[in-house]
Amino acid sequence: MKIVILSRDHNLYSTQRLVEAGEKKGHQMLVVDHSKCDLVIEKKKPGIIYRGQMLENVDAVIPRIGASVTFYGTAVVRQFEMMKVFSAIESQALVRSRDKLRSLQILSRAGLGLPKTVFTNYSRNVKDIVKSVGGAPVVIKLLEGTQGLGVVLAENENAAESVIEAFNGLKARVIIQEFVEEAKGSDIRVFVVDGVVVGAMKRQAKQGEFRSNLHRGGTASIYELSEEEENAALKAARVMGLGIAGVDMLQSKNGPLILEVNSSPGLEGIEAATGKDIANSIIRYVERNV
Ligand code: ADP
Ligand code: GLU
Repeated sequence: MKIVILSRDHNLYSTQRLVEAGEKKGHQMLVVDHSKCDLVIEKKKPGIIYRGQMLENVDAVIPRIGASVTFYGTAVVRQFEMMKVFSAIESQALVRSRDKLRSLQILSRAGLGLPKTVFTNYSRNVKDIVKSVGGAPVVIKLLEGTQGLGVVLAENENAAESVIEAFNGLKARVIIQEFVEEAKGSDIRVFVVDGVVVGAMKRQAKQGEFRSNLHRGGTASIYELSEEEENAALKAARVMGLGIAGVDMLQSKNGPLILEVNSSPGLEGIEAATGKDIANSIIRYVERNV
């Protein structure tokens, strides 16, 4: 098969591992930078030009689209879909997963546990917002943030007010969330491929930090999911329509609470923590669908 990996950098660990896993199975692997694709839209003959040539005879595409290029990246994925090429992540699901508000609404409709969350349209009524998620401490998150940047713990009401007002003043949209203290600075990342859990790890924040992101100095280790956690992760991936998903959850006294569902989850942390060949699971998923 000829499999395209949409990635802006062929040196990234995840990209390299997918190339390696595909080549091992005898596939032709091609890394295509979606930001450099030109889309040809013409009656009954959609095409993609890359480095001056039409991309032809592609069997499948594995999107690894960064948050900053969602708009153009998903247009490229959609173009492949028009060309009847199988995409490991549907363009629709990719767009949906990048909208945090919409994602939480979908997860909540499915009956999944979530930290109590408020979205506001730069509301000045900060006191009531903080109260509505159960009072301080609260977690305030920049809607556009990733890798734990723009995630702030406000220990008391005054701190919460200052932070929310500061973000409002910058016209930066935020969500306000109950602080799940029982999680003790850890979260669970569940890697789901094609409706099956292929790996799970527990990430623990470094001393004095509540964010467990690896980019924020957190450490990861393999983790055995409870049945409840496994079911929640699978359901989250399913309702989001994602063939590949990194489901992040907190452990609370009321069971797992979904934080977010990532549509381009990294392979490095999870492969290192679990010792599993997740790249191969992704290639096998693609093989089943072409
Ligand atoms: P990002 O998408 O930037 O990684 P997250 O929402 O995943 O942001 O938050 C980063 C980390 O902060 C999480 O992995 C978790 O450890 C911690 N965290 C986030 N929200 C909460 C919360 N409501 N209660 C407790 N800890 C949280
Ligand atoms: N980009 C990484 C992922 O989605 C985040 C790793 C982290 O810092 O937790 O897996």
